[in-house]
Order: sequence, then C-alpha cells, then structure tokens
Amino acid sequence: MPEKKLDNCIFCKIVAGQIPSKVIYDDDDFIAFHDINPAAPIHFLIVPKKHISTLSDCDDSHAALLGKMMLLAPKLAQQQGCGYEVDGNGSGTGGFKALFNTGPDGGQEVYHLHLHVIGGPRPWRGRTIVAA
Ligand code: AMP
Ligand code: ZN
Repeated sequence: MPEKKLDNCIFCKIVAGQIPSKVIYDDDDFIAFHDINPAAPIHFLIVPKKHISTLSDCDDSHAALLGKMMLLAPKLAQQQGCGYEVDGNGSGTGGFKALFNTGPDGGQEVYHLHLHVIGGPRPWRGRTIVAA
C-alpha cells in the first residue's frame, strides 16, 4: 500500500497544511486535530503523517507506529479534558472512546488511517459514530 502523500486525500492535505484544521498536537509522525463534525463534546482525530489507507493495511512494520498512536490517545484525552481518572476511593471519572473505523461496514469515510478519540460529559447529543 502507498504510504506517501496522496493528492486526493483530505487528511494528507491537512498534514501538508493545505486545508485548515484545529490542531491540538503535532510531531514528526502524527498530527491530531478536532473532528469537524464532533460526535461528543470532545472529539479529535490522531492521524499518522504518512498515508496509510486503513488499519487492515498495517502489518508488523507498523507496530511501533500503531503503539505510539494508541499511547497518544490517553495523553491527548487528558490534555483535552476527557482523561480517565480514579480518585482515592477507587471511583473512576471521565474517559473516552478510542476507535478505528475500517472499511465500508466499519463506517470509514476517510481512507487515511485515523484514530477517533471521543469523550466529554454525557449525554452525547452528536451524531452516532458508534453505538453509545
Ligand atoms: P471515518 O468515518 O472514521 O472515516 O471518520 C472520518 C472523520 O473525519 C469524520 O468524523 C469527519 O467528521 C472527519 N472529517 C472529515 N473532514 C474533516 C476535516 N476537514 N477536518 C476535521 N475532521 C474532518
Ligand atoms: Zn492521506
């Protein structure tokens, strides 16, 4: 699968700065930005800068990238105000969903790998990206 920038890919264009986005994180490998159509009070996407179409296109060579991507989710969720925390009594608060939509039956609309991070106080009144 190609991993270079694709001219017709909206997320490659966001990575290249050709389309504006509300960026919350940027490093050599990833960019994260707010979803334009949020499903909950907090909804952002973690996107590898290299073009990979879907999770199903990943193999062992992507293990480190995927691991880093997953570990960014709780870190950025915390920064955005939807981190999961356990108080001194053992009660958990906050939290988020982290999901990859893959393929048509998975509801994938943008074919550039991305991890949704969705959280904030319930009820969530936005579109149902996943059964809440
Ligand atoms: P998926 O269905 O998993 O492919 O999700 C694609 C997500 O990208 C949707 O939640 C869209 O709202 C979001 N999206 C599409 N275009 C943009 C954009 N220009 N900026 C931010 N988010 C976008
Ligand atoms: Zn792309």
